[in-house]
Amino acid sequence: MDTIRLHDLNFEESISKTEVQQAINGVAVRLNDDFKDKRPVFLTVLNGAFLFSAELIKKFNHECELSFIKVASYDGLTQNDEIYTVMGAEPSLKNRDVIVVEDIVDSGNTIDIIIQILKDEGVNSYKIATLFYKPQAYSKNHAIDYIGLEIANDFIVGFGLDYKGLGRNFTSIYKLKNTPMKNLVLFGPPGAGKGTQAEVLKEKYDLVHISTGDVFRYNIKNATELGTLAKSYIDKGQLVPDSVTIDMLNAEVEKNPEAKGFIFDGFPRTEAQADALAVLLESKGTEVAGMVALEVDDEVLVQRLLVRGKTSGRADDADEAVIRNRIKVYYAETAILKGYYEKQNKYHGVNGVGSVAEITDRLSNVIDTL
Ligand code: AMP
Repeated sequence: MDTIRLHDLNFEESISKTEVQQAINGVAVRLNDDFKDKRPVFLTVLNGAFLFSAELIKKFNHECELSFIKVASYDGLTQNDEIYTVMGAEPSLKNRDVIVVEDIVDSGNTIDIIIQILKDEGVNSYKIATLFYKPQAYSKNHAIDYIGLEIANDFIVGFGLDYKGLGRNFTSIYKLKNTPMKNLVLFGPPGAGKGTQAEVLKEKYDLVHISTGDVFRYNIKNATELGTLAKSYIDKGQLVPDSVTIDMLNAEVEKNPEAKGFIFDGFPRTEAQADALAVLLESKGTEVAGMVALEVDDEVLVQRLLVRGKTSGRADDADEAVIRNRIKVYYAETAILKGYYEKQNKYHGVNGVGSVAEITDRLSNVIDTL
């Protein structure tokens, strides 16, 4: 399927070039029949209808004239859209038979105002011709006389229609692609291999990896206020207070407005953090797809972290007492999150002992089902 990106959004082809042309032909055939002796004025509604109108007029085999009108809408203070005329029809349409040419009839607000303008002008007759019509969105009473294609209530671009100015030049039609975000919580005790796996998975699934531990360490290194505050807790293997951690996580998520999803590594670690994450993701119309947990025996963890401590430069990896305290904190404060996500049928345990590639495979088998 042909996919395009305009500004920050992805669109997929939904109506082919051929179907668009067939729709235009259908309208043209009927207009040729109905208006052969009437010398109609094709009143094109700018900007979107310019391509449809050009095609239609080329296929109209009798005398006709052209005129253009441009209206704009903005959200007024009330719920209703206010529409005003930017460019009026010239010359006068008085006593003329007018074919209003629209690219798309959606709510019908624009058509409503144009019909009012035509009545005020004293036209002899008016008909509405639109390339696309959204019956589910249309809320007015005027008949739409000539319809190229009825479409579902999707946001579309192409053939004159735009998203923030772009996309008008496509000859087929694209609709907004709704790709749900994939948000994973990578879970497990310290030393389970979350960081290593997150590095691989973020590439494989095109996700943004947020490790709260890494963000804290970055802040400590740069001696920020947050770093100084976090250091006192981290050095003892304790959790940094929720309010600090949650604010920081929110800020990290906000830095990535175009993310296709996140791997949360080391977050949430408490129920309050899990609740905060749910609220944050809900505000973005998404949620946690699942918690994937690496399960590793405690003694294996201690040995792994002692080995890592020789090269990681992390103070909290160098001291066996601190390591054991981190594992203790994990069981005392963090492991409850297994139950939290189990209740939502979102917990998936994975054996975390084996080679990096083996574990990636086990994780992928789960992630592919989410
Ligand atoms: P990590 O790199 O995930 O092992 O985290 C290292 C340390 O950073 C932890 O032992 C905590 O002191 C602190 N930390 C990281 N993530 C969190 C979190 N979600 N909540 C509280 N403290 C955290």
